[in-house]
Amino acid sequence: MPAHVDSALRHARARLAPGEAELLLMHVLGRGHAWLYAHGDAPLAAADAERFDELVARREAGEPVAYLTGRRGFWSLELQVGPATLIPRAETERLVELALERLPPDTGCRVADLGTGSGAVALAIASERPRARVVATDASSAALEVARANAGALGLANVEFRHGDWFAPLAGERFHLVASNPPYIAEGDPHLARGDLRHEPPRALASGPDGLDDIRAITAVAAAHLEPDGWLLLEHGHDQGGPVAALLQEAGFCAVATLADLEGRARVSLGRRPA
Ligand code: GLN
Repeated sequence: MPAHVDSALRHARARLAPGEAELLLMHVLGRGHAWLYAHGDAPLAAADAERFDELVARREAGEPVAYLTGRRGFWSLELQVGPATLIPRAETERLVELALERLPPDTGCRVADLGTGSGAVALAIASERPRARVVATDASSAALEVARANAGALGLANVEFRHGDWFAPLAGERFHLVASNPPYIAEGDPHLARGDLRHEPPRALASGPDGLDDIRAITAVAAAHLEPDGWLLLEHGHDQGGPVAALLQEAGFCAVATLADLEGRARVSLGRRPA
């Protein structure tokens, strides 16, 4: 009996987390949610049914949905993602919100995003602040290729990408705001061996014995790359608010604060370079 949209979904829903079967079928069919719900009785071509079964099996075996579809929604943007980049997370939208609160809409400010991965943070800021100039860096040229493709597909011309570690490609430049979602998981943390994290680039996730090596490297030199009164915003783990705030204070930042994400967990610490 040929499979229909509904029967294929029903079968897959029983094996996957909520919403995943729909994302995979939408990807196979090149259709959106609305089409899927309006066409439950549409027959599936054999090739589509086979491709869908294969993706469901790979998902069941642990491959991240975003790598199977090559797409992930972040902020208001649809991004291309792949195994060269971290999969953008909803909680990182908090970093974007806090950055936007500090970037007046109509001024031509300069913003840096360090470790941009797929470009998520830089592109979200660039899309909301068309007059801002955003520079995004990454040590992975494969990640930068993805980020550049995203900027091109979204038609965002106010972002520029540079290859290198943290501030290395920004020698002598100063910004009004620097944001980063750096790796912050402790090496050896059992979470690295679970779920999507097993498939993501280790360099995008882990950072030394306490997870803070990269945050230390960034806070140590950030002030030299900020305008007076400029902001540094760092995403980190829910239990790292105290240590990251302390690093910001040691580096001479003022107005240091740690803010929570929507789930009430410490997520971003920030500070301002004294004038
Ligand atoms: N800035 C990117 C993101 O937030 C990549 C972060 C990373 O690789 N640690 O998705």
